[in-house]
Amino acid sequence: MPTVLVVDDSEDNAKLLAYDLNDDGFDVLMALSGDECITTAATRKPDLILLDMRMPGLNGLETLEKLQGFPETADIPVIIISASSADTTIIKALDLGASDYVSKPVVYPILAARMRTALRVKQATRELEVANLELRRLATTDPLTRLSNRRHFFALAHAEFSKAQRHKRPLSIIMMDVDEFKQINDTYGHAAGDRALDVLADCCREAVRESDLVGRIGGEEFAICCPDADLNGACAIAERIRATCEHRTIRYGKHQFNFTVSLGVTSLTALDATFDDMLNRADQLLYQAKDKGRNRAVAC
Ligand code: GH3
Ligand code: MG
Ligand code: MG
Repeated sequence: MPTVLVVDDSEDNAKLLAYDLNDDGFDVLMALSGDECITTAATRKPDLILLDMRMPGLNGLETLEKLQGFPETADIPVIIISASSADTTIIKALDLGASDYVSKPVVYPILAARMRTALRVKQATRELEVANLELRRLATTDPLTRLSNRRHFFALAHAEFSKAQRHKRPLSIIMMDVDEFKQINDTYGHAAGDRALDVLADCCREAVRESDLVGRIGGEEFAICCPDADLNGACAIAERIRATCEHRTIRYGKHQFNFTVSLGVTSLTALDATFDDMLNRADQLLYQAKDKGRNRAVAC
């Protein structure tokens, strides 16, 4: 059952309301001041707060404002309970974020109906937040490797490029492509190829720093953006990935095989006007790595 925090400076009032709420199946917490309300709300996380307006110390509006200001309590719906039917108070409370208000003396069935509405809205909001988070994950993540997808990677990397340009900080980009991947698919099957891509993603994750970005930007093409890494640093990452891949055996069903990658590595220079300048250079270096015989990194 939902937990309701009843806030009233009159213990008798609070107990009277708690009696009805208990009867209705709610779990009830009580606070006899605004300060106590804030502490109890933060620690016990009730599903709903019934907040008396007129209290010594922090009044209802001040308490509401504080609740809204703390991340731990900002999402808890608050119904104001007020003897005052002054429009300005009610409007202020609703503008501050109260879900609703109920006049004293409380008619319990009406309060209960308003509580049900506030709890329904809260539940719907929570479900929407979870759904939005999941949609965001789906829209930004490559399902096979769980790396950033092309669009997300380029958006994040572009932002890093702008930051590095502005603050005159180093930034490096690595473009990577699996060698002769078509042959791996043709020999061992598409699912075995998928396993290789997943292992390659792990190799990348292991080789980079927390602040580096890794993305799958095409079928068997990956990119890494390394903020604050100069060409030497980026070459070390590229070589680590190249060597790890070369020595990691992929097992899939009865098959065992190895694969290699080619990489193009480049760093931001004063001549790079746009992010595309850098990306094009990294792409060309990757092609050079392929031309020179694959399984290597070419840097410039
Ligand atoms: P190169 O060394 O020149 O890069 O040769 P390659 O065979 O890797 O390059 P090519 O572009 O000819 O072939 C890429 C292959 O990648 C073809 C495609 O079927 C395969 N591929 C693309 N996406 C996926 C995927 O998600 N899973 C699997 N298993 N294969 C994929
Ligand atoms: Mg390839
Ligand atoms: Mg390719």
